[in-house]
Amino acid sequence: IRIYVPADSAAIALGADEVAQAILAQAQQRGIEIDLIRNGSRGMFWLEPLVEVETATETTTGRIAYGPVQVEDVSVLFDANFLRGGAHTLSLGLTEAIPYLQKQERVCFARMGVIDPLSLSDYEAHQGFAGLRRCLSMSPTEVVQEVLDSGLRGRGGAAFPTGIKWKTVAAAQAPQKYIVCNADEGDSGTYSDRMTMEGDPYMLIEGMTIAAIATGATQGYIYIRSEYPRAIEVMQAAIANATKAGYLGDRIVGSSYSFHLQVRKAAGSYVCGEETAMLESIEGKRGVVRAKPPIPAMQGLFGAPTVINNVISFASVPRILERGAAYYKNMGLGRSTGTLPIQLTGNIRYGGLIEKAFGVTLRELLFDFGGGSASGRPIKAVQVGGPLGSYVPEQYWDLPFDYEAYAAVGATLGHGGIVVHDDTADLSKLARYAMEFCAIESCGKCTPCRIGSTRGVEVIERLVQANADSSLKPAQEKLLRDLCHTMQYGSLCALGSMTPNPVISALNYYPQDFGLTAANPA
Ligand code: SF4
Repeated sequence: IRIYVPADSAAIALGADEVAQAILAQAQQRGIEIDLIRNGSRGMFWLEPLVEVETATETTTGRIAYGPVQVEDVSVLFDANFLRGGAHTLSLGLTEAIPYLQKQERVCFARMGVIDPLSLSDYEAHQGFAGLRRCLSMSPTEVVQEVLDSGLRGRGGAAFPTGIKWKTVAAAQAPQKYIVCNADEGDSGTYSDRMTMEGDPYMLIEGMTIAAIATGATQGYIYIRSEYPRAIEVMQAAIANATKAGYLGDRIVGSSYSFHLQVRKAAGSYVCGEETAMLESIEGKRGVVRAKPPIPAMQGLFGAPTVINNVISFASVPRILERGAAYYKNMGLGRSTGTLPIQLTGNIRYGGLIEKAFGVTLRELLFDFGGGSASGRPIKAVQVGGPLGSYVPEQYWDLPFDYEAYAAVGATLGHGGIVVHDDTADLSKLARYAMEFCAIESCGKCTPCRIGSTRGVEVIERLVQANADSSLKPAQEKLLRDLCHTMQYGSLCALGSMTPNPVISALNYYPQDFGLTAANPA
């Protein structure tokens, strides 16, 4: 009998290791032989630890889910014959029939929670390496064209077309080229990269290998944030297994291509998620942003042409190669093709990972999936796209998730992180926090960010404290808007230029939190 208990960091934090131990102990005590598999998480965190049992009874075939399971539930579950799908108050029925999962369009996360993350045979049995096999039957130019035709755009936040990056590196003449995966997932409320690395690591390896073949690179690095020890451990084990099986190394599965891959542990700095600061860090230097040009595709790691993509961008590639560009392009909306793994967090009842094609709305995510706020109070503000994303007020909750539609209202989708706040949130405090975060994380290279963020904290404090009737109030608001404008247009990288997003949106849509009767955009 096969039982699945996630070994995902979120599930472990909620007691999955202890539950797994209790299941093993109970089975041994009762003389029942079980095969306990530590899978990835399905991404429904309010149900973790989610225990699944593979069943084949007269009425059901598939996995029956139970959750959230605590250690004290385990012996009762055995008594209830859960190994045969027995009824229990924690029973959720067939996992695949849980509405939260059923309503999704899982492309990158199709195998998540289904397979044993480090089992190569399990990966292969679930279409693993099918994209790589097709890639090996094509010329590198055709592979780049397939990615271009799919319309895939970088999922790290900038949404730059992945195929154009690859084309630039493929065309560059250089003795050495690199593939770098940015897994420094530092945005608040985001975890899709971590889940991918912990729950389906070969998918990332396959995507990076395809990128290497397409562009002529022979060495790759995965730069993983130090706060992700489990992801580092799983990726290192997966790289060793893939190398042994010939999917990495000197002659990739009998071809003449070679690609070597290593994990680099990040230094714990938010700005090292900026691509050029990350390159500096991999080179062993302090993580300071480089001026562009030259772009990394021309002169990147150690001065060589380098493809830099986020985990989800690379993870999208195997499916594109396996099923073709049209399959991917037909999902989504306009120039936002394919799917986005959305991470729903904050004050929300059902937080978790939701993979949907572009076009889904925030209202659907907040209520159809999220079930409203966890506190039961009205939702007031939603920050979309990480700490540098705007606060999106209710008037925009019906906008489709689409890079252009969000940009048109001054918002961003970023890496797909959503943090929800109810009506007790004070947006002036959140705006102050945005400036403070920038001041702490600034690499210090340029003045608008280094100095501006600290001045921003001070101006917001003065604005909030100023008497509503005094002339100081409008003067401070104007000063804050001027400062934000300078940071937006004068900063070298996104940390400085995007920190004004949460500040200005808070000011525009929630002026009362700053003691203003109305916003006064200049
Ligand atoms: Fe560094 Fe901030 Fe300038 Fe970016 S904007 S280069 S983080 S000082």
